[in-house]
Amino acid sequence: MKAVRFVGVGNKAEIQDVPKPKPGSGQIVVKIGAGGVCHSDLHVMEEELGFKPPFTLGHENAGWVAEAGSGITGLKEGDAVAVYGPWGCGHCHACQLSTENYCENWASQPGFGGGLGYDGGMAEYMLVPHERLLVSLGTLNPAEAAPLSDAALTPYHAIKRALPQINPDDAVVVLGVGGLGHMAVQLLRVLAPVRIIAGDVDQTKLDQAKKLGADEGVNTKDINDAAEQILKITGPRGAGLVLDCVGVQPTLDLGAKLLGRNSVWTIVGLGGGHHDFHHGSTPYGVLMGIPYWGSRVELMEVIAIAQAGRIHSETSQFPLEEAVGVYEKLKAGKIQGRAVLIPSGHSAYKNQQRVPEVAHQ
Ligand SMILES: [Zn+2]
Ligand SMILES: [Zn+2]
Repeated sequence: MKAVRFVGVGNKAEIQDVPKPKPGSGQIVVKIGAGGVCHSDLHVMEEELGFKPPFTLGHENAGWVAEAGSGITGLKEGDAVAVYGPWGCGHCHACQLSTENYCENWASQPGFGGGLGYDGGMAEYMLVPHERLLVSLGTLNPAEAAPLSDAALTPYHAIKRALPQINPDDAVVVLGVGGLGHMAVQLLRVLAPVRIIAGDVDQTKLDQAKKLGADEGVNTKDINDAAEQILKITGPRGAGLVLDCVGVQPTLDLGAKLLGRNSVWTIVGLGGGHHDFHHGSTPYGVLMGIPYWGSRVELMEVIAIAQAGRIHSETSQFPLEEAVGVYEKLKAGKIQGRAVLIPSGHSAYKNQQRVPEVAHQ
C-alpha cells in the first residue's frame, strides 16, 4: 500500500510502498478515510526531536474499522472511527484518567503515537494497537472528521483548562487562525460567551475566522500596531485569555503585550518562541501554560459537539500522493482551514454512502 514516510531529519517526506498491516490480538487495522496535515509534521521532518526513521507520518486520522484482531468486542468492521492521537502506556494514573497526552511513562515509550514514532495514518491502512484509542464517529464522515482528533482536540483541551479563569465579559485573543485556530474560534463560541478577537497575518484566514464566529479580526503583521488595536478593544484589563496557536517569536512578543493582571496565556503552537517569565516581565497573576493535545474523553466531547453540528472543520482535500506538495503549501501559509490527505478510492466504505470527491487544487 502507499504511505507517506518520514525518512530522516532534513529530508522531505517520501511516498513509498509498504506492506498492509495485520492486526495482532487486541489490535485494529483502520482503513484511512483522511489524514490531517499538521505543522507538527514539519517540526518532525526539520528538527531533531528524537524520532527514529522511517515511519509513516500522519497523527490526525479517521476512517473505518477494516480488520479487528482477536479479543475486540466493542467495534466491528465498517464502523467509522477517529484515532486518538497521543498513545500512552495505557495503565498509569494519567492514562487511567484518559489523559494519555500526559502519560507518566512517555519517556520510555518508543513513540508519542501513530505518525509520531509509530506508523501513522498517511497511508491506505493504519495499525492501531488498542481499541481504547478509537472513538466512534457515528454518522460523521471520516474525511471531514479527521481534524477533530488534533486541530479541534488541542484547542478544546487548552480552552477547557482556561475556563475557570475567564469571565463572560472577557476578550479572548486567538493568534493564528489556520488549522487549530479556525477550530479554536468555533470552540470558544460553544464553550464561553466571550468576545473573540482573531489575529493572523493573512486576511483570508481572518475573514474565515469572522465567518466562524470571531467578533473582530486583526492583522498581526506589525505587532505594535496589532497590540494597539487589540488593547483598544480589551481596555486596560487586557485579554482574559491569549491562545497562541503559532508559538513563534512574533506571536509570543505580541501575546506578552496583550496580557493584563490575572490573564491566562496559553501556547499551543510549536513555533519555538521564547518568553522570559519572571517578576517584572509579566503582569501579576498571569498563568502561562503549554498544554499538549487532549484526553480521550475530551475527544469524545469534541466529536459529540461536531455531531450536533456546532463545530466543523473546514478541510481542503488532496490525494495522498500529493503529500509532499501539500507540506510545501502548508509551510508557505497557503492552506485554508485544515488540509487532509485522502487515499485513492477511500472516500467510502464498501456500500456506505460517502459524499466527498477529492478536490484537486
Ligand atoms: Zn498536530
Ligand atoms: Zn501512561
